[in-house]
Amino acid sequence: MPHTLYRKRKSVWGLTIISNMGKIILTGDRPTGKLHLGHYVGSLRRRVELQNSGAFDKIFIMIADAQALTDNADNPEKIRQNIIEVALDYLACGLDPQQSTIFIQSQVPELCELAFYYMNLVTVSRLQRNPTVKTEIQMRNFETSIPVGFFTYPISQASDITAFRATTVPAGEDQQPMIEQTREIVRRFNMIYGDTLVEPEILLPNNAACLRLPGTDGKAKMSKSLGNCIYLSDTPEEVRSRVMSMYTDPTHIRVEDPGKIEGNTVFTYLDAFCKPEHFAAYLPDYNSLDELKAHYQRGGLGDVKVKKFLNAILLEVLEPIRTRRKEFEQDIPAIYDMLKAGCETAREVAAATLNDVREAMRINYFDDSELIEAQSNRYKTN
Ligand code: ATP
Ligand code: MG
Repeated sequence: MPHTLYRKRKSVWGLTIISNMGKIILTGDRPTGKLHLGHYVGSLRRRVELQNSGAFDKIFIMIADAQALTDNADNPEKIRQNIIEVALDYLACGLDPQQSTIFIQSQVPELCELAFYYMNLVTVSRLQRNPTVKTEIQMRNFETSIPVGFFTYPISQASDITAFRATTVPAGEDQQPMIEQTREIVRRFNMIYGDTLVEPEILLPNNAACLRLPGTDGKAKMSKSLGNCIYLSDTPEEVRSRVMSMYTDPTHIRVEDPGKIEGNTVFTYLDAFCKPEHFAAYLPDYNSLDELKAHYQRGGLGDVKVKKFLNAILLEVLEPIRTRRKEFEQDIPAIYDMLKAGCETAREVAAATLNDVREAMRINYFDDSELIEAQSNRYKTN
């Protein structure tokens, strides 16, 4: 049974309206490339589980093209081309348009208007403190030339989340500062204008290795921008070559040498993907990941054996995704139709929230007969 929340909202007429709000998910990805294992463990796998659990009343999945343009303004073609790639990856992983509304951010202009109002509620210094944006600015060498749109994208993200009255945002750890920023905006908005917006919560992966999956090069995060990814649609050969050249422990030179687990990407990936049954299937000499780790740490276990094990697991995970993707690739126009329908649904929902926001901010002049009457009374001469 869907769990239902009730929320109070004051109207301009001073009445209190009780609105029936459900458990709602909003999450998404930037169409800057195909989706990779980091997306999968950080958010995508969970979204599909939550969708299939039936515990949520509404699920909105956004392809964040407008946000992607904030640091790709000179390359709109890249964003345009990748919309379909992200949509294919979604469908291949099991997101189902019958249960989840999949839409494209730029097609819901209400989001821009909300962001414009929220900008008044956030200071420049607060934006400057956002650790994820700080890292991203460094990564993109933006220090002296940060586009305003990029700098303010946490505010735009707050409008994406609140427009759908999302209660839950399944995302990786890098999104935590964005959700915190959104919560602050919601509290400030509700304090100034009355209880209107819903405060969301982030739903982080429950496995530490998935909070921020490192890249195959051992760098802190697998990221399209860093070119250290295994993509969900990579061929088995591509996956194998990525796995076999993965960063491990540079001091583990000979098989007999003791090896380190910490910071060893292959073991981090095993933490993220390995299940007990994988041992019987692919590495029956061991019973558990702890046993495998202990052997590696005391020496006598080579990287190649561990990498082959990881490769077998990743093949098992990725094979059904790749097969489903191939099927969806056969009818691309149907995917654009699905996205178009999703945009229409999303727009209706966002427009309803925007109406509430305008009403709360008292900029709904023409809907407010009381205002018109009061102003006319002021000018009536007896
Ligand atoms: P870009 O480099 O364009 O920013 P990205 O690879 O960081 O792309 P996003 O579209 O910014 O991907 O992220 C989409 C979602 O995937 C977010 O919820 C984010 O937390 C999650 N995510 C991305 N990379 C990882 C990762 N390496 N580990 C865990 N979650 C991740
Ligand atoms: Mg990112």
